Parts: sequence; structure tokens; C-alpha cells
Amino acid sequence: MEFESVIGLEVHAQLKTKTKIFCNCSTAFGAAPNTHTCPVCLGMPGVLPVLNRKVVEYTIRMAIATHCEIARESRFARKNYFYPDLPKGYQISQYELPIAEFGHVDIEVNGDKKRIEILRIHMEEDAGKLVHHPDRPVSMVDFNRTGVPLIEIVSQPDIRSSEEAGTYLRQLRSILRYLDICDGNMEEGSFRCDANVSIMPKGSDTFGTRAELKNLNSFKHVEKAIQFEIERQREVIMDGDEVVQETRLWDPAKNISTPMRGKEDAHDYRYFPDPDLLPLVVDEEWIDEVKATLPELPDEKRTRFVKDYELPSYDADVLTSVKEIADYFEECLKVFPKPKPVSNWVMGSLLGLLNAEGKRIEESPISASHLGELLKLIDEEVISGKIAKTVFEEMAQTGKPPQAIVEEKGLVQVTDVSAIDVVVSEVLSRSPKEIEDYKAGKKKVIGFFVGQVMKATQGKANPKIVNEVLREKLDG
Ligand code: ADP
Ligand code: MG
Ligand code: ZN
Repeated sequence: MEFESVIGLEVHAQLKTKTKIFCNCSTAFGAAPNTHTCPVCLGMPGVLPVLNRKVVEYTIRMAIATHCEIARESRFARKNYFYPDLPKGYQISQYELPIAEFGHVDIEVNGDKKRIEILRIHMEEDAGKLVHHPDRPVSMVDFNRTGVPLIEIVSQPDIRSSEEAGTYLRQLRSILRYLDICDGNMEEGSFRCDANVSIMPKGSDTFGTRAELKNLNSFKHVEKAIQFEIERQREVIMDGDEVVQETRLWDPAKNISTPMRGKEDAHDYRYFPDPDLLPLVVDEEWIDEVKATLPELPDEKRTRFVKDYELPSYDADVLTSVKEIADYFEECLKVFPKPKPVSNWVMGSLLGLLNAEGKRIEESPISASHLGELLKLIDEEVISGKIAKTVFEEMAQTGKPPQAIVEEKGLVQVTDVSAIDVVVSEVLSRSPKEIEDYKAGKKKVIGFFVGQVMKATQGKANPKIVNEVLREKLDG
């Protein structure tokens, strides 16, 4: 029996505001435990939350970028449950009336565009963090994270494979980063994802029972956990059993998931409107104001790169995946306005170098203008493409401009015909055997001669001129 998988993702993105959602405490990561706390985020009696306007603005940004309808009036509710990391005994979250609904994100699947609908985006506060003692049976709680603003982005169950889930997540993260509202770091937990997975017979229009997967801390784990879950459900059904609705915990060390709890229903949480917070009113004017500040988004930039720079869509994808890479590319073009060679060098040598060193492009030892100048030197035949690789390595080591390195090391390409003529004659005079071969019809020997000349000139001779001189001497 053939099955089709159905996946919906719930993504929690931590917003990059300076202060928490309902108090003035700092959101900075990595402070000493419980130093970023106050009576409000600790849930003391008699205190009142005050909504951070920046949180709303950032959420509106994301809502516009994902083509959502923005509610003129939305509400905060209390989601009630006990856990030691939740001092108030409830989490403030939007429930019945979220700020945004009915949006979409477009992704590319096997070269085709596919639309993933967004069910809703709502604001909520984060909980604290339990720190489990490594040796003793003790857990400690750190409330620095309680009240840090989150948006939850809930997709429709439009995703059909683990690869699609990965592509969608990368696209969401890219949008959040372009908007500069979330740093998108999965390992540090500022971008988290729960995956809802079910399967149904191929062609069916009734969804199966879903399991919700938690603890997916990297793109790799998301994809592996979904893959595992699809396989697991297939086996359950093939054994004649039924999939039960439950929450499962992914174990990244063992590459399996285990049941964590039966799936709770919304009514278990006793949601009710938070009486301490007024309905949130967002008017047209505010939305227009935010709209005016939005940057060019990944999709628009990708389209522009293909159209204006005539780049293959693969190149445009890679270059626009991160805004800073796109900026670097365009900086480079200002110095050397030939898009395809610039793209090749950025995607190949530069990203290769940064990957190897685990650096982001903002930390590149080679500036965009220096890379542009290097390409100019190649284009003007001051250096050969081969020598350019050496210069590039040296730039990476020292951060020096390419011209300085070329001069210092005497790497200027030899284009002087008479100088090349001398070397060619010298090479030929010590290769009578190869000349005989050549004259006997083994034209490939020309490669040997070129190699010898390049060796004698430390790669500096202009290969085109070397070829010309050789042929003239051998054939002429
Ligand atoms: P809950 O809080 O119960 O998880 P949400 O509305 O927050 O409910 O999230 C539901 C998520 O589950 C959505 O992303 C939705 O697309 C997804 N989903 C719903 N039904 C299915 C299904 N049968 N198979 C897979 N995913 C589903
Ligand atoms: Mg859920
Ligand atoms: Zn506080």
C-alpha cells in the first residue's frame, strides 16, 4: 500500500527586541541565571503587564512579509498549566483572536513553485528554562527567558515530505532574518519547530491521525525526525494498528522518537482572555508605516537577480539565501560589474573559504571591494586565473588588497611576446624527443610544452600567448 505524508509545522521565533514582551527586563542571551527578572516576569501578585510596542511592530512585519490578513483587533489569553519554568501558572498567548491569519510562503520543490499556507501568526511569551544538574538528581530554574517575546507561525498541513519541510523552514528563517526581527539560531533556540506528521493512503482526501514531534534542534533533526515518524506510522498501520494522537520526543543521540504524552486538547488549557491586557488595536496607518520600512524580501531579490543580472536561478538562490551574501555580491559588482564571474567567485572560493573557517560573510577576511579588484586584475590580464587563486589565498591570510600582493610577490602575468619567446625556445631546445613526437602527428604534446613554459615562469606566462608562440615555432 502506498502512503502520502501530511506535515504541518509550528515555528516559534524569538523576536530580537531589547526588552521582554510585558516588562522592561533585558532579553540578552547568556546572562547569569535570574538576573534579567522583575516582579512582572516572575509573576508576583499585584503587578500588571504592559505590552511592548516593538513586539507588535515586528509581528506586523512578519505578517506583511507572509501576506497575512492583519486583525484590526486581537486579544491576549491565558493558557493555564503548571510547570516549574512557568512562574505565573499560565502563559500569555494569543488564542481565539490572533494578530494575523491566512498568509502564505512560496517554496521551490523540484524546480516548481509550491505554496504553503499560513494558518496564523500569534504573539506569546516564552517560559523559563530548567537546567538539570549533570550529576545530582536536581534541576534548577532560570527565569531570564520568561517573558521573552515569541511569535508562533502555524502552517496548514500543506507539506508533503521531510525535504519540503526543510525548504519551508529555511525560507521562513531567511524571511525573518531579512526582516531583522529574529536571529534564526536553531541551536540556541531562537528559532524552534514542532512538526505535526500524519500519513494517509495515496490519493485519499481524509487526513490521518497526527503525532506532534518536539525537541527538533536543527534542520537535520527536523528532517530525520519526520522521516522516522513517517516510517513508524507506516509500520503501525501495516501491522493493523491505529496511530494514536500524541506528542513525541525526538532523541537526537539515538535517532528515534518516543512517546512523551497523550496529545492535550485546547480545552485542557482553560484558555480565557487575559483580564490584565486590553484588546490590541492595530490601525491601517500603523500597518502602512511598517510596510514602508520593509526591506526587499528574499523572493523579490531572487527574481531581480535572475532578471537584472541574468544569473541562473541556482546562483540567485544561493546568493539571496542570506541578505548579507546578497549585499556582498552587489558590493563586489560595484567594482567589477560582471555578474556571472562575480557569482562564481562568491559561491565557489569565498563561501568555500568561509565554510571551512566557520565564518559568516560579515566576518570575511576578504572585503567585497578587494574581491572585485581581484577579478578586475584577471579580466585585464594582469594576472592569470591560476595565479588569482594564489592571490586569493594570500588575501584570505593577510586581508591585503590584491594589487599589493601581486606587486610584492612579482605575480604580474607575462604578456611580453619576446620574453615568452625566450622561454619557449629554451624549453624546445631541451625537448628534441617531444618535438619529434609532435611532428609525427601527436599534437597533444603541445600540452607538455605549455606546461614546461608555465613551470619555468611560475605560472605567470599568459597561456594564450604561450600557445601562439609555440605553434608558430612548431608549425611555422
Ligand atoms: P495544536 O496546538 O493542537 O498543536 P495548532 O493549531 O497549534 O494545534 O497546530 C496544528 C498543526 O498541526 C498545524 O501546523 C497543522 O497544519 C497541523 N496539522 C493538523 N492536522 C494535521 C494532520 N492530520 N497531519 C499533519 N499535520 C496536521
Ligand atoms: Mg501544537
Ligand atoms: Zn521582567
